Amino acid sequence: MTNKFSVPLKKSYILLSFIRWFDSEAGLDDPLEDDKTGVDWFRIIPFIFLHLMCFGVIWVGWSWIAIAVAAGLYLVRMFAITGFYHRYFSHKTFKTNRFWQFLFAVLGISSVQRGPLWWAAHHRHHHRYADQEEDPHSPARHGFWHSHMGWLTTRENFPTRMAYVRDWAKYPELIWLNRFDTLVPILLGVSLFLLGEILGAYNPELGTSGPQMLIWGFFISTVVLFHATATINSLDHMFGKRRYNTPDTSRNNVFLALITLGEGWHNNHHHYAVSTRQGFYWWEIDITYYLLIFLSWLGIVRDLRPLPEAVRSRNQIEAKAKPEGNRP
Ligand SMILES: [Zn+2]
Ligand SMILES: [Zn+2]
Repeated sequence: MTNKFSVPLKKSYILLSFIRWFDSEAGLDDPLEDDKTGVDWFRIIPFIFLHLMCFGVIWVGWSWIAIAVAAGLYLVRMFAITGFYHRYFSHKTFKTNRFWQFLFAVLGISSVQRGPLWWAAHHRHHHRYADQEEDPHSPARHGFWHSHMGWLTTRENFPTRMAYVRDWAKYPELIWLNRFDTLVPILLGVSLFLLGEILGAYNPELGTSGPQMLIWGFFISTVVLFHATATINSLDHMFGKRRYNTPDTSRNNVFLALITLGEGWHNNHHHYAVSTRQGFYWWEIDITYYLLIFLSWLGIVRDLRPLPEAVRSRNQIEAKAKPEGNRP
């Protein structure tokens, strides 16, 4: 009986994978959704395409302006991911109004890391089951590559785990954005191409062009941004120091904290996820936190949740070891 229907169902599944490039929720009640294991190869073609397009640099070359735009977009979008996708949508560590919430959701979605609800839901799931079998991206359980990027290519992790983000479901604009999650990235790509064409025509001394600006500003910047973000799920559960005795493998890693604007203090974060700051001491550089303080001065965000001193000193591995070491 399964054989009789397998061919048309397979066809419809491939079709659905294509449609979901643009409408991420198309046919989610499809019976084939029962088959959740394995990589959805048709669904991830845009993700592969994103990487392959970086090789376009061989043909378009480089210019200082293209590199500056790529770096600027890396920083701005990293901040949207860490400050908003993570510290706002996932953990609600501060407040903002509906306008800024939407604006930063748009900025976050331009990073091509899916919608804010999808991102927050998977992240909340990660915190609930960190490094247990149910954790979608645990290097300790499923190895480096799965925790870095393999997990988001599998069928089971494509839909938004709505049960985790009921609090955001009351905002139709977020639901809409989350569903049509490739629209903003496509608009960003088109805008960058046009910017490059305009600069090439009116400021030829800059040495850029539409294709060059597209490759650097969109493809290279986005791919580097993706892999830097993904290191928090992979490397930051493997390399670094553990200050807190958390029930997971999270680490504090200064290098990862620098490239992700503060997310590398991941052991701190697993210890106490609801504080806005993740660098718990003044020397733990947390650029996202400084930028959020700046935004609070401008009145864009408010009520940043503090880190209580009692929480900071609780459950530290060093502090626990000391009394034992001092024993006669
Ligand atoms: Zn983690
Ligand atoms: Zn988190």
